[in-house]
Formats: sequence, structure tokens, C-alpha cells
Amino acid sequence: MRFIGRIEYFGSLIYDTERKEYIPIDKDGTNIVLNIKPNIDIDSLYYKYFSHRFSYLNFKSFLQLIQSIEMIDKNYNTNVEFLTNQDLEFYINNRVISSPIKFHIALTYECPLRCRHCFSNSGRRTPTELNEELSPERILEFLDELRNSGIFYVSFGGGEPFLKKDFLKILKKANQNKMNISISTSLTTQNIEEFLKENITVQEIKISVEAVNSKEYTNSRGRNLFAQFKKNLALINEYKKQTKCYIRFSFVLNKYNYTYLPSFLKFAEEFEADGIIFYPIYSVGRAEEHPELILSNQDIEKITRIITNMKERTKIDIDFFGIPLKFGKNGLYENFGCGCGKITAYLSATGDILPSGMFLKYKDKFSLGNIKEKKFKQIWKENIQKEIYTIQKDIKCNECIYLEECRGGCIFRSFDKYQKLGYKDPTCNIK
Ligand code: SF4
Ligand code: SF4
Repeated sequence: MRFIGRIEYFGSLIYDTERKEYIPIDKDGTNIVLNIKPNIDIDSLYYKYFSHRFSYLNFKSFLQLIQSIEMIDKNYNTNVEFLTNQDLEFYINNRVISSPIKFHIALTYECPLRCRHCFSNSGRRTPTELNEELSPERILEFLDELRNSGIFYVSFGGGEPFLKKDFLKILKKANQNKMNISISTSLTTQNIEEFLKENITVQEIKISVEAVNSKEYTNSRGRNLFAQFKKNLALINEYKKQTKCYIRFSFVLNKYNYTYLPSFLKFAEEFEADGIIFYPIYSVGRAEEHPELILSNQDIEKITRIITNMKERTKIDIDFFGIPLKFGKNGLYENFGCGCGKITAYLSATGDILPSGMFLKYKDKFSLGNIKEKKFKQIWKENIQKEIYTIQKDIKCNECIYLEECRGGCIFRSFDKYQKLGYKDPTCNIK
């Protein structure tokens, strides 16, 4: 079937395996999709189940809408497979989403670089450390667990995912599961060509580009692999032309490197990147050894102005992730508030499920469980008893005009500063 649905307390989330997108549908719409049968008498269906809920006109419009996107055909054959969930009642009663929609999967913490800002402290790993990481077989199983829970957005990172044993097999599995795939890479390994030879489709490649010349590169990333990076970038450009894969450059901003932004934008434009995402450096992992790089709120304000100006000058989509301000047309938190641990989750290379990668810093407190010991579904069900689901927003945010989008901002930064999840994001400059 082209569409795969999961029932939720508000209705359903239906994933379109061709467009690789979720479609949220409310309870009434979900009931219509569930009750449609081939050659059904539509009028009887309406008067039997729905006439007390909404008008006939609305009913017909909804049918036309789902026909137009081919969720049902003109004879009312549906093209939707609804997944079963034995714990559905539990999630409906608790009024929480039954699983995230996106998983960030750290495949390994092995990396050819040693960036100063690296939140996962990645670099060269000893054989013992590599042995503690999840086996490719467990990751393949985990991808099926995600698919069966209706989780179709996966992003593979690390460390450097191209160094994970059987990475191409993992990508092929995600392709078979019809997932929306993103890869976060530094593009510094020599096996990119092998990836290009395979018939693998990914929706996004996110490339970390913190410097645009050898000197800056070596300084911020610990090794001079700039030539290898440029060579791979040219190869990826070919892949982009063939597959229409979205290429996004990512840039971790620290106290000093935002002076490079004009040359970075030029570099991204020359390459014809589709998007750029900026992250503020977090005091996590190796960045904890470099307090001099951490941004102050004044720096963030200054950077926000620079990036706003860049957005006006370029066709490239630009995002500034995780800063609690309404930034451009995209509400940063898409009306969910911080989604970590609810809408999105992180799998560490050693098997812990965490609300996000930043929570590696507090792994002992925030690990929801380890997939070496339990299946994903069991871990997730236990998760909703945890602190993340009972966060009360800070009263300081009550009057804020951005409250709908932001809802208090980043829960990690709140915890990191105050040892409490729901305080107003400390990077917020709104009085
Ligand atoms: S930030 Fe990325 S490229 Fe740099 S050491 Fe960490 S994982 Fe490797
Ligand atoms: S005041 Fe609160 S809700 Fe408003 S932008 Fe800042 S953190 Fe977000």
C-alpha cells in the first residue's frame, strides 16, 4: 500500500511512502478512511455514521480531497495500511502521541575529524569502544521496529556514518522500509564513491561545513581533510543532479567563527546548496573543553541579525536551529514546543534512547532505555511516565507573542543551566 497509517489520540498520522511525508488527519477524517470499502454506498455510509457530526458537503469534500492524493480511488478502494498497536488505548487515554515521527540514529562515534564543537566527542575509537557500539544486525532490526511503529523519518549520523560497518546495507534497509532518509556527514571518508555506485535514494544529505579553507578547517576540525572534503563535495554534486537529493550545509556557530559567514555563504552559493542550517554550539561533549567558544546572548542576537540579512540576500533556505525566536516563515517548534523525547528521539551508537543527542551529557538520568536490552516499543511506553511528559512551562513565557511556536524553547538548555526542564530557554533574549 502507498499509505501507512497509525492511529493517534487526535485521529491519525498517515505516511505517504511516495512523497515521504506524514499527513495528519483528525478523528472524523480518520473514521471516514477506516470505514471506506470498495464500491460502498457513500450516501448510506454518511447517514449511518457521520450525518450527526458534519454536513454532507464537508463529507464529500473530504472524500474528493483524499481521492485527489490517491489515498482512495474512484471505486473507494483504499490505499492505506493501518498499523496495529497493542498499546493504543494506553496512548489515547494519556493523550500523547504513540511514538516519535523522527529518529536521529548515531551509528558510530568513530570519526576521522576531532572538531572542537563535537557534542558526541567523536574521533578515533579503540576496538573495545567499537565493540560496545550496536551491531549492524541490531540496527537493521531496529529499523523494522521503527517502521512497525509508524516512524518513517530517520536521520543517520554519528560520528561519521560512512565509517559504520555495513552502512550501505543499513541505507538499503531504510529504502526498503520506504523511509525518509537524511544523512549527516563530514564527507571526509574515502568510501563515498561506493555509496554513489549503489542504487540508494536518500532525501537529504546534511554536510558539516565549518570552514571554507584549509587553515580554518584544520583549526576548527582537528585535522586537515579539506582536500578530501572538496573532492567528495564534487561527487555529491553529481549525485544531487541525478537524484534531486536535498543538500543542506550545516554550520556550528561559536564565538569566533561567525566572522566567516559571508565567505561561507559564497561557498554554499557556488556549490548551489539547497539549504543551510546553523546550530549554536552547545557546551556538550568536546565543546565542554572549550568554554571560550560558547556564545553569549549578545553573540546570538548579533548572529541572528547577520543571518536575517543573509536570508534576504540569497535563494538558499536558511534555518537557525533551536533559537527561541520566530525566525522567518518557519515556526521553529511547529507548535509542538520542544519536540525532544516526544516528536523526535535519538539513538546513541551504544544503544541508549535519549530525547536528543545533547542529553548524552546527562545520559544516566535521561536514558529512556537501551535497545540492547529491550525492544523500542517497550522503551517508548515506559518513557511517557518520565519527567519530559510533565514539564510545566515557565510563567515568564506566558505573555510572549511567540509562545505558540516556541513554548519555552529548548528543554536541554533549560536543564543544563538550571537542572530543570521547563524553565524559559536561557538563550532567549525576549524580555
Ligand atoms: S562534529 Fe561531526 S565531523 Fe566533527 S568530530 Fe564530531 S562527528 Fe566528527
Ligand atoms: S519568552 Fe519563552 S516562549 Fe517566548 S521566545 Fe522566549 S523562551 Fe520562547
